[in-house]
Amino acid sequence: MSKLLTPDICVVGGGSGGLSVAAGAVQMGASVVLVEGHKMGGDCLNYGCVPSKALLSAAARPGMGFAAAKDHVAKVIASIAPHDSVERFQGLGVQVIEDYAAFTGPREMQAGGYTIRARRFVLATGSSPFVPPIKGLENVPHHTNETLFKDRTQPRHLLIIGAGPIGMEMAQAHRRLGSKVTVLEGLKALGRDDRELAAIVLGALKDEGIDIIEDAKVAEVSGKAGAITLRLEDGRSFQGDQLLVAVGRRANIDRLNLAAAGIDTASGAIVVNTGLRSTNRRVFAIGDVAGGLQFTHVANYHAGLVIRAALFGLPVRASTAHIPKATYTSPELASVGLSEDEAREKYGDKLEILRAPYAENDRARATGQTAGLLKVFAYKGRPVGAAVAGAQAGELINVWALAMSAKLKLSAVAGMVSPYPTLGELNKRAAGAYFTPRLFESKWVKRIVRLVQRF
Ligand code: NAD
Repeated sequence: MSKLLTPDICVVGGGSGGLSVAAGAVQMGASVVLVEGHKMGGDCLNYGCVPSKALLSAAARPGMGFAAAKDHVAKVIASIAPHDSVERFQGLGVQVIEDYAAFTGPREMQAGGYTIRARRFVLATGSSPFVPPIKGLENVPHHTNETLFKDRTQPRHLLIIGAGPIGMEMAQAHRRLGSKVTVLEGLKALGRDDRELAAIVLGALKDEGIDIIEDAKVAEVSGKAGAITLRLEDGRSFQGDQLLVAVGRRANIDRLNLAAAGIDTASGAIVVNTGLRSTNRRVFAIGDVAGGLQFTHVANYHAGLVIRAALFGLPVRASTAHIPKATYTSPELASVGLSEDEAREKYGDKLEILRAPYAENDRARATGQTAGLLKVFAYKGRPVGAAVAGAQAGELINVWALAMSAKLKLSAVAGMVSPYPTLGELNKRAAGAYFTPRLFESKWVKRIVRLVQRF
């Protein structure tokens, strides 16, 4: 007989989203069970955001060797791990069950010899690398982001399938650590980003010696460890000694036995309404498993909403309009809100595009980081989207993420005083560009000024 637990909330998945819900809920007085079958901290800490940024940072340091870079990655993970550990969560009062949980009914899960009958369930099981059905791939050793960071053998020539954020970040890190790198992309590299801005980043990556081959759909993989061949649909072939597959991710739903709880899925992810509830009212789904944007900061945002809904019974509405994203290549690429194409489609001629090139920013000049551009898409005095390529783009986008989430006007950003000389002045510059023609090219302004001067 399994033991019965009846917490207020059962969180399934100890990654970014699940840990945020568990920590928040228990500290606000709810009883919480957290079920994690693999590693606390999830993909972000162990295989994703944290190791990738650590590897990029190590690779940017002159003279850093491959093994030392991997040591740095392990050290960074180890330094953050206690914060996400079973011990810390138990200390907070969460009951942690180290197993995989599966539904046995609409309001009941089983894990680790327990039956968990919770008032609310929060599914935060994340996603795993998608391994595409490319002929031969299953027989050839290859990396995904789950294995790459642990491997201490330096590739002589790393082949990467997929030029999304994972592919491009890892291409640059490995190139800077001395490997030859070839990226094969079936469509366009950094294809989800602004084309003009992606071109700035891709140009810099190519200048560092990374081969980026677009319209290159890999059809077949052959060979063995150390001697791998990729054949494209068009017949071209490429050889390398290691292979990284970075072609997207799939939601982790297989072990949950969702059907037993009446939880619907679509395109391999859990269907949720705008309140993040699944088709079973007691069950919320957040982060990657809920099928939307696959970012740690989205999982954390969802966690905050679910706490409000589950603990306080407040209505919540998950939105994507104010969610930023950043790719941490050097230069970086970041955006928030509508893309230029989406904004043009929605606002037509009324859309204004404000541009601030890094080449005109004094700090960028001083540090030799003049390759970059900030674009803001404005409608009736407010930003509807912004995108940046260049140094610190991920930091610059914060202002626009605030402007979008707080629904600020461009005048708020234009009126802010930025310290000189900072890259952040680019934000003020772009906002100011909205007012320049209105102030300097208006005959009314000139008339008023002349009139006032008479007194
Ligand atoms: P992705 O979906 O962003 O990019 C995968 C790329 O692989 C696509 O461009 C696709 O056209 C290409 N592709 C697919 N099949 C192919 C084939 N047979 N041959 C050649 N190319 C092929 O996926 P990703 O880079 O793996 O990232 C996964 C998720 O994680 C994304 O949602 C991403 O936004 C997120 N992520 C974000 C960051 C960041 O924001 N810094 C970093 C890592 C991952």
